[in-house]
Amino acid sequence: MSQETLQEEQSTIQESTKNIKTYPPVKGGSFLIENGKADDFFVAEDFDDEARMIGDLVKDFCIKEIQEPFFKNGRELQVTNEADKAEMLAILKRAGELGLCGVSIPEAYGGMGLDFKTNTLISTQLPHGFSFATTLGAQTSIGCLPIVYYGTEEQKHKYLPKIASAEYVASYALTEPTAGSDANSGKSKAILSPDGSHYLLNGQKIWITNGGFADVYIVFAKIDDDKNLSAFIVERDFEGFSVGPEEKKFGIKGSSTVQIYFDNCKVPVENLLGERQGGFKMALTILSGGRIKAGAGGVGGAIFAVNRSATYAKERKQFGKSIAEFGVIQAKIGDITTKAFAIEAALFRTSDLIDRQEANLLAAGASPNEAKIKAISEFTIEAAICKVKGSDLCCYAIDEAMQIHGGMGYAAETGLGMGYRDARITKIYEGTNEINAMLAVGELSKRALQTKELDLISAGKKIPTFLMSMSNPFRSKSDSSEQKRILQGIKNTFLYLTNAAGKHFKKALVDEQEIIMHLSAILQDAFVADCVYLKVQKLSTPTNSNKEKLAVQQQMVQLYLFDALGRVGHAAKEIIASFGTAGQQKTHSRMVRILLKPYAVNPKTLRRNVTKAVIEHGGYPF
Ligand SMILES: Cc1cc2nc3c(=O)[nH]c(=O)nc-3n(C[C@H](O)[C@H](O)[C@H](O)COP(=O)(O)OP(=O)(O)OC[C@H]3O[C@@H](n4cnc5c(N)ncnc54)[C@H](O)[C@@H]3O)c2cc1C
Repeated sequence: MSQETLQEEQSTIQESTKNIKTYPPVKGGSFLIENGKADDFFVAEDFDDEARMIGDLVKDFCIKEIQEPFFKNGRELQVTNEADKAEMLAILKRAGELGLCGVSIPEAYGGMGLDFKTNTLISTQLPHGFSFATTLGAQTSIGCLPIVYYGTEEQKHKYLPKIASAEYVASYALTEPTAGSDANSGKSKAILSPDGSHYLLNGQKIWITNGGFADVYIVFAKIDDDKNLSAFIVERDFEGFSVGPEEKKFGIKGSSTVQIYFDNCKVPVENLLGERQGGFKMALTILSGGRIKAGAGGVGGAIFAVNRSATYAKERKQFGKSIAEFGVIQAKIGDITTKAFAIEAALFRTSDLIDRQEANLLAAGASPNEAKIKAISEFTIEAAICKVKGSDLCCYAIDEAMQIHGGMGYAAETGLGMGYRDARITKIYEGTNEINAMLAVGELSKRALQTKELDLISAGKKIPTFLMSMSNPFRSKSDSSEQKRILQGIKNTFLYLTNAAGKHFKKALVDEQEIIMHLSAILQDAFVADCVYLKVQKLSTPTNSNKEKLAVQQQMVQLYLFDALGRVGHAAKEIIASFGTAGQQKTHSRMVRILLKPYAVNPKTLRRNVTKAVIEHGGYPF
């Protein structure tokens, strides 16, 4: 591209940033210490017709291309079989023809340029395509976003239009045999060729999604003896590059997963992506964005499970009545539905915050690349929570859907067995759930103690005032204030116990992983509970014409808060019993008992009411 064209493009970008709408700034992790504003909270109902249409398009595509031809006939695509592998590639190419491979690529490079939240909406629909969700997900997320966020203009123009149209299949190669969760410890190495025109890359990558038929690989390796990774764009036909056979896997059998090898692979110097040694940060940013989509896939999978379960439970009769009339079945459907509703609120809140942050940064003069990267990095804590909560729910929901189907759940034609196997990977990739759970707490501590972006210390000091307000006999007993009290109680339990554990272990707290995991469980519930509370507050307006639906949504907030109190109470007990003297433990227990005072609602009736709404609607209606 000529210098002139580049300058022209840059001035067009500068011109277009003048009219960008900006938003009040929000810091990642601030949900713990600040009260969100309901009227400013993005909910699924706020999506415009275009976004909904794209979501429906993805769903219809998955049903037509995957569900109807394959699993309805009890057949599963398996890429270890060459014909199926060709079929999966052909499906991806057809998705490209519809523009679905370019959803996250800016229009200037041949994509649809959709915002982050619409991409999240798409991810909630992808589970209809089972393992195709992973194939398309890698193409539109980890495979192409490194170029969208970090690429030069030349790199973007060269690769993105072809990825958007699926002429090129994209993949992301970080993991190595000795470098999984510890991703920066990879052994792959690049050295500059004597004439300075190429890097010579040597090493091996494993578990590479789309790798069996990809044309472009984002490969992470260290240059010389660098401390940190760099990133490269490697093309399939580069000399010294080769691909291993398809892995035989437990699930997502339609998704290609291979090892790839570099034997003095010649990578042109202009294919270095981003800055030298910037690869590790890049990998983390890309994974952080990918985690929200993985969480969205989890919620989509759970809603799929609810829909299947509701239909089957209504039809299936035992002991003279439909099994949907049994309390045990109602408790399962009500529980999954409520969790899906709550986590979905967290997904769209986080995605919207990323979009807003990007807009603010662009308006402040950041380059498009910088704005995207910084916006995603700001919400790392929330992204990790979305991933853990969404994928855990997905696995639990499919397991329960299979149980609701009894023996039929075990039959290939229901697709639940395949869903059960496919769902399981979501807890492993994009960083295992344990790594993500610990990362959420670690990142929060960093922002409180090192960068001082979040003032958790002052928030902790307010806990006694909160406790005094709770002992006030004249305090309002409205349900809304009860809900606020519970939310604050959960957040304060996290602050109180983090402070107590920090005082006891000091820097060694980082080695107390069991305690960090329990703290993380509290933090996760604090975030999701905050989101579902704000969502329903926003929906609870006099102008909301769907009063019946709203009444059930309000009951789901009650149910989520009731259940969260139980989970948080358990985590708190574990933490308190894990350190300190008997006297200290007694003090902590007394404090937590006050912070987590019970919520007087009837969870059995609430779950039954939620299920009734689902069964009457014939599936998830929210
Ligand atoms: C089907 C599939 C597709 C994949 N696709 C891709 C892809 O496209 N590109 C890519 O680069 N990678 C991909 N991966 C790799 C995936 O991201 C890794 O498998 C994952 O990050 C975990 O790494 P690992 O398998 O080495 O497990 P390990 O890191 O060895 O972890 C094993 C266990 O130890 C735990 N553990 C590890 N470290 C710690 C710690 N510090 N503290 C406590 N517990 C710890 C983990 O939580 C886990 O339970 C894929 C994997 C699979 C299975």
